[in-house]
Amino acid sequence: MTVFDLPILDAHTHLAGSESGESAEGMLKTLDACGVDKAFVFAPLLDVRSWELTDQDFGDIRTHNDYCAHICSAEPERLLGFCVLNPSPSLTNGSIPRAVDLMNEEANRAYHELGLRGAKMVPTNWYPNDHDVLRLYQVIADLHMYVVFHSGIFMDGRESSYCRPSYFEGVHSVKGFKGQIAHLSWPWVDEAIASLLMETNILGQEPENWDLIADISFGSPDDWQLDAVQKAIDTLSPEMLAYGSDIFWPVSAEEYREKYLQPQLGLFETAVTLGHVASEGSGKRADMRRKIFHDNVWRHYQAIVRDPQRPCRSEKEFSTTRASKGHDK
Ligand SMILES: [Zn+2]
Repeated sequence: MTVFDLPILDAHTHLAGSESGESAEGMLKTLDACGVDKAFVFAPLLDVRSWELTDQDFGDIRTHNDYCAHICSAEPERLLGFCVLNPSPSLTNGSIPRAVDLMNEEANRAYHELGLRGAKMVPTNWYPNDHDVLRLYQVIADLHMYVVFHSGIFMDGRESSYCRPSYFEGVHSVKGFKGQIAHLSWPWVDEAIASLLMETNILGQEPENWDLIADISFGSPDDWQLDAVQKAIDTLSPEMLAYGSDIFWPVSAEEYREKYLQPQLGLFETAVTLGHVASEGSGKRADMRRKIFHDNVWRHYQAIVRDPQRPCRSEKEFSTTRASKGHDK
């Protein structure tokens, strides 16, 4: 079933771990009821502040990635799994090069053993354009994995400045890189748009040549939501934006529709009308809607993922007690 004949890919959802009550079955039930065809599914983030990480925490990162593959193995064509990679120097006694080596290994394990084709990265305690971190991106790109970066204000209230959008321009020196920045980088929407405009400046108008696109999942307070989406729609190519809910599973169909999908559809329609970009009822409007809610991110993901994911099912009982269960926890 689809909503208004609109295929939908949700490019930003989080697992909250085995103790949260989520299950592949429940996730698919919500997606089906809301007409969502596919979802990017991120491994749980650690419920540990990045400055408190130690070498002990690498085990939890690996378990969370195993868990993500296990959940996605229930429906590999619809639940597109993303391992979490975090080259935080706190994991390796302050050494970024060693943290990068560790994550290079984990990227390889996620691809070859877990069968995942995506990586979620939240820059905390490391800068996205750090020389050593570029080495990790190259490993990820060579594996043909797609990256979603957190960008913008960060919930821990200490490390947002690592997530400023222009730092992600570092990916332009990585051959074959494909990924997206999240939340239109709010509150740095202007900076995100300026950086994304440079994509077309340096890489041309053809979307297949771009390295980065952006998801429009909410990051901003209410009064800024329309403003942010409006500016993005008015200024950027309509091929550069993607819908994302930023939910933490489990979420009921009603909550998904009421809190995420309908508000995002409403914002899109209002912004396109106010921007005089494509009139109501026009084919161009329908075309833009379809691109932003499905086609753009699917095209970008497929531009790097050559071999479809084969997420690995596990027989073990998962315990992910250190999984983050929401934005405020
Ligand atoms: Zn998120």
